[in-house]
Amino acid sequence: MKSANAILSGYGMTIFEVMSRLAIEHKSVNLGQGFPDGNGPEDVRAAAHEALDDQPNQYPPMMGVPELRQAVAAHNKRFYGLDIDWQTETLVTSGATEALAACLFGLIEPGDEVVLIEPLYDSYLPIVRRAGAVPRLVRIEPPDWRLDEASLRAAFSDKTKLILFNTPMNPASKVFTRNELGLIAELCIAHDAFAVADEVYEHLVFDDREHIPIMTLPGMRERTARIGSAGKTFSLTGWKVGYITAAAEMLTPVTKAHQFLTFTTPPNLQRATAFGLGKDDAYFAGLAASMQRSRDRFAEGLRGLGFEIIDCGGTYFITVDIRSVGFNGGDVDFCKTLTTDAGVTAVPVSAFYGDEPPTHFARFSFCKEDATLDEAIRRMTAYFGRG
Ligand code: PMP
Ligand code: GLN
Repeated sequence: MKSANAILSGYGMTIFEVMSRLAIEHKSVNLGQGFPDGNGPEDVRAAAHEALDDQPNQYPPMMGVPELRQAVAAHNKRFYGLDIDWQTETLVTSGATEALAACLFGLIEPGDEVVLIEPLYDSYLPIVRRAGAVPRLVRIEPPDWRLDEASLRAAFSDKTKLILFNTPMNPASKVFTRNELGLIAELCIAHDAFAVADEVYEHLVFDDREHIPIMTLPGMRERTARIGSAGKTFSLTGWKVGYITAAAEMLTPVTKAHQFLTFTTPPNLQRATAFGLGKDDAYFAGLAASMQRSRDRFAEGLRGLGFEIIDCGGTYFITVDIRSVGFNGGDVDFCKTLTTDAGVTAVPVSAFYGDEPPTHFARFSFCKEDATLDEAIRRMTAYFGRG
């Protein structure tokens, strides 16, 4: 038999699936793969039920149902003051995962360079490489996740087609500051590059931090694709409804990729997402506030166990230094042992890096009911207490 595509064949199963399977096998409290407890807001689900029965279920328009595209434009205006033409500047995709693939396949020419910031969400590098680009990696590391200006500058060149980055950032829980975004913008403009901004955690920002879409910075409106996800904003990760906002000229080639990747996304879920994006400000503020409460509750439990915690400004992930509880092995071993012996699952942060990753950090998801978080702490207390 002839060999399959070498780039994709070279990758193993994603860490999220690996750890979730192990968690199921060992009946552990799964704080590995990021998915909320519970079933999402009742009114959003009700809107999906109604649309399923009362609205057409045949192929919706390739760009997305008008209600959702209008809602995406209105959401951009309400939260960020962006004036978006829903007919030419919005596109609905099957999750942010497809949005990312459509942007990369639509914009990249083989041989282009793409700047990426490690740690990386799992799909970035495989798709960038499959699209034929040369990745230029800039690394940030715990505990401070500092973006080094010189390294970022050095990664850009006249071959740079785009930068792909994520704020608030998974797994770093870092919210990019206006200064950092300003530097990225300056480099994009200087090198005539695009920015693909993965902003799926836009409504999960804590304390006094602010989510700033790079698209709102001077000179970036025409060269940014901004990606959102109903999975994160409505705690419905299985729905896989994503949305892209980009200037028409940039969105057109992305649409060409989308039409051959999935073409469209279930219409009732699109309509329910439109309903969700129209919810009042209290919903969005409440989502962040309740996640922040969960962060604080879980962080306190972790601290009580002796874990050193890395600052968490956004997303629903928290990273710990595993050496602080006396674990001398690597993070992969730690996460496996914690699953099999303590009955709690985390994911190793090394999985988010390419070569020579830091190997003593683990990521826990805290998007869970109090009882789930408390049970995880109880199990770890019993385990570490055994000494
Ligand atoms: N980007 C990041 C940073 C994520 O954490 C996720 C969550 N899985 C995605 C993209 C994909 O989102 P979706 O489930 O909407 O495809
Ligand atoms: N975004 C989720 C996480 O980081 C997982 C998504 C997936 O399983 N593909 O945990």
